[in-house]
Amino acid sequence: MLRLTDIKLPLDHDEFAIKKAILEKLEIDEEQFLSFEIYKRGYDARNNKNILLIYSVDVEIKQQDALLSKFSNEPHVRLSPDMQYKFVTHAPSNLKDRPVVVGLGPCGLFAALILAQMGFRPIIIERGKAVRERTKDTFGFWRNKPLNPESNVQFGEGGAGTFSDGKLYSQVKDRKHYGRKVLHEFVAAGAPQEIMYVSKPHIGTFKLVNMVEKMRETIIALGGEFRFSSRLEKLNLVSEADDETQALENADQASQNKSYRLKGLYLSDGEYIDCEHLILAIGHSARDTFEGLYKQGVYIEAKPFSIGFRIEHEQSMIDRARFGDNAGNPILGAADYKLVHHCKNGRTVYSFCMCPGGTVVAAASEPGRVVTNGMSQYSRHERNANSAIVVGISPEKDYPGHPLAGIQLQRDLETMAFELGGENYFAPAQLIGDFLAGKASEDLGDVKPSYTPGISLTDLSKIVPTFVSDAIQEAIPAFERQIKGFAKVDGLLTGVETRTSSPICIKRNKDYQSINVTGLYPAGEGAGYAGGIWSAGIDGIRVAEALALQMVKQTLEE
Ligand code: FAD
Repeated sequence: MLRLTDIKLPLDHDEFAIKKAILEKLEIDEEQFLSFEIYKRGYDARNNKNILLIYSVDVEIKQQDALLSKFSNEPHVRLSPDMQYKFVTHAPSNLKDRPVVVGLGPCGLFAALILAQMGFRPIIIERGKAVRERTKDTFGFWRNKPLNPESNVQFGEGGAGTFSDGKLYSQVKDRKHYGRKVLHEFVAAGAPQEIMYVSKPHIGTFKLVNMVEKMRETIIALGGEFRFSSRLEKLNLVSEADDETQALENADQASQNKSYRLKGLYLSDGEYIDCEHLILAIGHSARDTFEGLYKQGVYIEAKPFSIGFRIEHEQSMIDRARFGDNAGNPILGAADYKLVHHCKNGRTVYSFCMCPGGTVVAAASEPGRVVTNGMSQYSRHERNANSAIVVGISPEKDYPGHPLAGIQLQRDLETMAFELGGENYFAPAQLIGDFLAGKASEDLGDVKPSYTPGISLTDLSKIVPTFVSDAIQEAIPAFERQIKGFAKVDGLLTGVETRTSSPICIKRNKDYQSINVTGLYPAGEGAGYAGGIWSAGIDGIRVAEALALQMVKQTLEE
């Protein structure tokens, strides 16, 4: 097959246009042509009066080799790469141990699936509930019921992205095409087929819930085992130096400079599991677990993340600004945006996790704290567009001195947001116009807030450090130059956005094991190796492969 890229066609092209463009590009006639399939479809809306669809296609033709050499200097005609996923190993029949996966977000889900498909029969530990039960708790909290700290937007089967827009793209390098495997498995579990070829695929929250359940069934059918409402409390580590089991009561004194070997894990329900190979995929909100691991001596570093607010506009305004008269075209769907501004104070403000036609959601996992995020349904038909507008911060400048200092900063901001919101999980909010003018808001304008249980109008600059509010005040008018209406006075800001990525990194070696704990495989967003559903899934596959190869090697050596 040949892959042809950069085929540009008008938005309203007819059904024969792609084939015609292929014949023209390759300078062949019908005789030589066999078939084609779309590999990717994106669009270029920079000129919204002439929006173009951009295709990459895989083409089957006769005399392919001759044609390939004819186009050897043409970068848009290449041999289609083999993107088929191939298992790196299979579990030997005399395998004694079972690997454990802790955390059932996209990273843990894909790690468990790949291990199960290779015959390793993983045990999966998840602190939250199975996804149906979890959905009740999460939607209950949004309807004013109490927060369940173990079952919410962050915790439970499916992980942090279950109640989300389900965007499936990222900028990660993926030379081995693991991303295709993630998409294939999602489609097998019920995702729309189009995620295989649209350039910015998304799934939406309700479909994700069903898919997660289906993937669990597949893993169980392959010998996997799930424990819900079961939290990893502590690792059983043996010091590599003196081969002495680290007593639990001395865990506070453990050193990050020593090397350890994993022997097992203690769970919150009192169970102990022997385990020498564990994938730790606990996401960015497992603050208690991070603290426990740090105390036990697992090497952890602080890492940069971002803080700010959610911004809400009417989706129709964003559609018009981006697509002009083509707003509403079903191929384009609800418009998104991606914005960056470098500020005079040296900070960078950017949009993040933009959810077209969606809602701002209450994403707290700890009592007495408020944090925002966004989600949408597959249709993206809600009235408002929302996105995080955040400022990058770093441990060197903003939270120096301790590997876990970023967590404390997040907690402080979320506590302030809770207090400013009225101490009832309402989120503090402010009109864009008032935020830019530096005064508290008193009345809403045209943009109706989508956040539930509710918002309290206030002055958001009270929550974040001055450099953050200064930077966002400078960036919003700059974004107006790219999206007309972005700085509109009655757009809405809701706070506070703190869980943009993990504030820590659990460092791992090239073999994907912790740099000081043999047998521990930190993975996904929480460990600092992914940002988003798709990249977390990819990291899960990578780490599962590394663990499987190591288990097979050890079994052969015994
Ligand atoms: P997580 O998904 O966070 O999963 C970690 C799991 O580990 C959780 O289920 C948790 O309960 C469990 N866990 C934690 N501690 C323990 C413990 N001690 N013992 C047992 N289990 C434990 N990304 C996108 O790409 N697209 C989007 O549209 C998108 N929208 C989002 C919307 C919302 C509301 C949120 C909150 C996030 C969104 N994200 C989105 C981010 C995305 O969800 C994360 O990047 C992704 O889920 C990270 O995957 P993960 O598997 O590494 O961690």
